[in-house]
Amino acid sequence: TTLVQPRTVDGPEHRQRHGDGPADLRAEDVSAWFGDHKVLDRVSLTMPAQQVTALIGPSGCGKSTFLRILNRMHELIGSASLAGRVLLDGEDIYDRGRRITRARREIGMVFQKPNPFPAMSLYDNVLAGLKLNGIKASRDGRDDLVEECLTKAGLWKEVKDRLRQPGGALSGGQQQRLCIARSLAVRPRVLLMDEPCSALDPTSTRRIEETIAELRTEVTIVIVTHNMQQAARVSDTCAFFLASHGTPGVIVEHGDTDAMFASPRDERTSDYVNGRF
Ligand code: ADP
Ligand code: MG
Repeated sequence: TTLVQPRTVDGPEHRQRHGDGPADLRAEDVSAWFGDHKVLDRVSLTMPAQQVTALIGPSGCGKSTFLRILNRMHELIGSASLAGRVLLDGEDIYDRGRRITRARREIGMVFQKPNPFPAMSLYDNVLAGLKLNGIKASRDGRDDLVEECLTKAGLWKEVKDRLRQPGGALSGGQQQRLCIARSLAVRPRVLLMDEPCSALDPTSTRRIEETIAELRTEVTIVIVTHNMQQAARVSDTCAFFLASHGTPGVIVEHGDTDAMFASPRDERTSDYVNGRF
C-alpha cells in the first residue's frame, strides 16, 4: 500500500504482532557527501526481511552515515547530501510525497549511547513515539503496549513494579533495552542499531543479543558492530565496509555471515575479521 493508514493501537492492526510486518530494505547506489567530502560511493545492499544484517568495518568508513540514510535520519543533522535510492519493500522512502515522519516510524533506530528521556517515567518513555507519530491509544491499549514492548525488549520482569520511576534511574543496559522497547512501540518494520552494545557490559550485551534473536522474525534488523564475535552470533548476513586512504566507503564483500567469517573472498575482509587491522 502507498497510503498512510490511520492507525490506533487498539484497532485490529494492534492485535497483529506487528503493523505491516517486517520488510525488505534495499539501498541502491547510495553515495553521500559532507560538503566536498565523499564518504560513501555507490553502496548497494539488500537487507532481507526476517533476517539480521550486520554492518562491519573500521571507524570512519561510513557505517553510521549509511545507517542514518536508511531512515532519513541524516536529514535531521543537516549537512549530508545524497544520491541513490532506499527501497522499503520496493518503495523509495525518498520519493517526493513520502513523508520523512513515515520513514522514521517504519524504520526505527537505536543508538550506541542509550538515550531514554531521563526524567520521564519508564511507562511514558515506551509510549513517547506514539504522540510524535499521531498514534492514538486507549488507556488499556497503552498498558498492553507497554507490557508487550518491555517484554519483547527483555525488561518487563525487572521493571513491572516500578513503571513510574524515571528512565534515568535504570542501569545502562536497562536503559538500552528501554530504548528498544520505545522503538518497538510504533511497530517499525525495520530496526536499525548503531553499535547498541558498545557502551554496555558483557551481561547486558548478551541480554540485547538475546532480544535481537527473538525480534528477528518480526522486524528486519540491521546492526552496526565492531565486535566480530557479536556479528557472528547475531547476524545472518554481513556486509564489510571499507574506506581506504581517504577514498569513500564502499562494501568490499557481503553475504552469509558464517561463510564470510570462515572463508572470506577478499583478503581485506580476511584481515579485518581476523583482527589484523
Ligand atoms: P563510521 O560509523 O563507520 O565510523 P561515519 O559514518 O561516522 O563512519 O563517518 C564517515 C565519514 O564521514 C568520516 O570521515 C566522518 O568524519 C565523516 N562524517 C560523519 N559525520 C559527519 C558530519 N556530521 N559532518 C561532517 N563529516 C562527517
Ligand atoms: Mg559509527
